[in-house]
Amino acid sequence: MVNRMRHNRSQRGNTRSHHAIKAAGISVCPDCNAKRLNHKVCTNCGKYNGKVVIDVLAKVAKKEKKNKAKKEETK
Ligand SMILES: [Zn+2]
Repeated sequence: MVNRMRHNRSQRGNTRSHHAIKAAGISVCPDCNAKRLNHKVCTNCGKYNGKVVIDVLAKVAKKEKKNKAKKEETK
């Protein structure tokens, strides 16, 4: 660090005053009443703004199939 870049204590404090962690925005899904993050698709029902975006059941089925294949492999 070059000396001309050095900040005094008040400048450093001013910068760090904006470094606090804010709590994540959590709201309730209007379709299934599960908690979800703001501006994100609901992971419980796969809906966003009333529309189905993710096929949750297909995802679960795929995971089960994968786990089953893994189990067979270890046998
Ligand atoms: Zn939902």
